Amino acid sequence: MSMTDRLDIPRFIPTSRLVLLRQVAALSAYLGLPAYLVGGFVRDALLKQPINDFDLVVEGDAVKLGRALVKQFGGRLTVHAPFKTATWFVPHRPERSGAQSKGDDDFIDLISARSETYEHPAALPTVKLGTLADDLRRRDFTINALAVRLDGDHFGELSDPLGGRADLQRGLVRVLHSNSFVDDPTRLLRAVRYAERYGFKIESGSEALIPLALEYVDKLSPERLRHELDLILGEENAVPMLEKLWAYGIVRCVRPALPSEEAARKRLGAARRLPSSVRDPVQFRWMVWLMDATPAQFRALAKRLHFTADLAKKVAAASSIYNDLESFKGTRPSECAARLDGLPEEAIRAVSLCADEERRALLEMYLTKWRDVKPFADGDALQRMGVPFGPRIGEISRRLRAAWLDGEVTSEAGEREWLAGVLQDGYNRGDSKQ
Ligand code: ATP
Ligand code: MG
Repeated sequence: MSMTDRLDIPRFIPTSRLVLLRQVAALSAYLGLPAYLVGGFVRDALLKQPINDFDLVVEGDAVKLGRALVKQFGGRLTVHAPFKTATWFVPHRPERSGAQSKGDDDFIDLISARSETYEHPAALPTVKLGTLADDLRRRDFTINALAVRLDGDHFGELSDPLGGRADLQRGLVRVLHSNSFVDDPTRLLRAVRYAERYGFKIESGSEALIPLALEYVDKLSPERLRHELDLILGEENAVPMLEKLWAYGIVRCVRPALPSEEAARKRLGAARRLPSSVRDPVQFRWMVWLMDATPAQFRALAKRLHFTADLAKKVAAASSIYNDLESFKGTRPSECAARLDGLPEEAIRAVSLCADEERRALLEMYLTKWRDVKPFADGDALQRMGVPFGPRIGEISRRLRAAWLDGEVTSEAGEREWLAGVLQDGYNRGDSKQ
């Protein structure tokens, strides 16, 4: 391609962010450190898709550029010395609210251009400083191996040494060399993710390499494997992506094995469109995916995939309800509530979506009505009626709520009557100490 191919950067960037990029551009030109936006930004700008984030590569020492930025414009720098990368937390100004944020701060990641070599499949690479060309060669796919230059007069110049633009036009996800998937099997998941996100195909030569790398998927660390799965589960097209992972046999290699794909396919199919109540799509889809795991299966998986405690709790709750759904048949509302009280709402919602009509009706009744049923008399009121402080208060409260749920009590007067009966009973049995 010619050197004059330029990308009209300002068209794709919110003004707030552009101010920052101009600062980077000016200083990197001054320091003689060529700086580039790489990867997703260029890809999505060329596809006219919304821009998610910015990855900035510096030819030379990115830490040096970072220190100069702090000196000139303020903010602060965190440095990751071994890889010569840095994060610039920019000084906070209201007009910069378009930037990414880690906590409350806006930041830009600065990466020194590098080459990477892999000693073992699925291991972390050995890193050496290099040129932009090296840095593009270490990437996953041609469509991500694109860069646009920022410094000085070069502002907007496109670099496309590996044919990324042509593949964007043809709609192809293509690896850069035949060992790519073996070096880093997360790329198997990434290839599927980009293909389904953009409606692309995995290029046939690259696709032919997939089976050869499958045996290495299970060598990935829990963090890296789950990170890529989380990214997939957070995408709008998560379900077609999972279908592809299954079709290629990509997650089938993970040990301990995930639950049956056939059943998961059915449940996830029902959940293809997220219900509007879902706040965390990633968590929701994990629950739907894994809810038929046995507790032992799930514990092993949670460890293999390094689930957060919160996620583990929710998936465990979903599977405890789901695996016990049979027994909800014909239960009274109070029994249903007793099983569900205290479980995370999201888990109940996820199971509801996957249950048959009768069970779903029960779960929905719980969520919309039963959950909130509260008798008039609370613990204090019971004490005033002469129930001594102690476990009996809780017990009577529970029974009273059950009476409301099952329709034995339907009014405040009815509640008083019910309580009178129960308290009378208690005195007769002599278990009141007063
Ligand atoms: P998006 O964030 O929209 O999914 P992205 O391209 O920004 O896309 P990131 O995961 O943020 O993706 O990664 C940034 C860039 O780093 C990618 O464009 C790619 O060039 C490179 N990259 C990420 N993961 C890998 C990998 N496993 N192997 C090689 N290069 C990778
Ligand atoms: Mg990104």
